[in-house]
Amino acid sequence: MRVAESLRSTVVWKAEWVPPVAGHILSKGKSSKRRSHPIFVGHLAVALGSKSVDKQVPLAAAVAAAFALDLIWPVLLLLGAEEVRINPGDTAFTALAFDSYPWSHSLLLVLGWSLVAAFVARRFLGTWRAAAVIGVLVLSHWVLDFVTHRPDLPIWPGGPLAGLGLWNSVPGTIVVEAGLLAAGLSLYASATKPRDRIGRWSLVSLVALTSLIWVTQPWAPLPPSSGAVAWGALILWLLPPWAAWVEKHRTTEGAVAPVSDGSSDKVTDA
Ligand SMILES: [Zn+2]
Repeated sequence: MRVAESLRSTVVWKAEWVPPVAGHILSKGKSSKRRSHPIFVGHLAVALGSKSVDKQVPLAAAVAAAFALDLIWPVLLLLGAEEVRINPGDTAFTALAFDSYPWSHSLLLVLGWSLVAAFVARRFLGTWRAAAVIGVLVLSHWVLDFVTHRPDLPIWPGGPLAGLGLWNSVPGTIVVEAGLLAAGLSLYASATKPRDRIGRWSLVSLVALTSLIWVTQPWAPLPPSSGAVAWGALILWLLPPWAAWVEKHRTTEGAVAPVSDGSSDKVTDA
């Protein structure tokens, strides 16, 4: 992918002053049984931001769509269909080398997954608008991964690899992903209001905890094995129910005025 390669060289060029083995040096000697979890907040950002596009799309569905590829990835790792390797300094931001993930992360199949997700969403959410939001969210995962990963994302299984390599720069990664998250959070916070204290703190804790896990990754102890990476990544399956919990205690602005009790539940439980 020529355009990708030239864009990548630009980004990598800007990031070159960052020692590529920073993660290695910082995590070496601190190896323990604790696991670092590969969570990337850019995906949470687009899920939150989608609320401003269509309020009928439940946050849980948006989060599941935005993280979909990373939800199926650990399952495929455990089944032996895809491969990850621990390679300290692979990029500055993560020690994970994504050696093979054609089913979950090749552009061709991701286009297919996003169509499947859109049709499922059309059936359960009822509108083509919601279906489009879900489909685009699934596809957005690949686009964000394309920006951050080094060229390890296949265009099709066995095809050329793409990736702009933002992870070669820890500061660059933090600035871009944190900026996205701030934007997504502000869109979500302006499209919804807390019904109660839980509505506020469940959202704050969701964003704070995922941010903490994400931002400490370059300095986190190395996972003991690639199997541990796969099991650790299953933590992502907690995100959709957490998002559902958040939204159960929040309401969209339009629904807040005449609400007395249960009449707005269709908004939050949709
Ligand atoms: Zn991914």
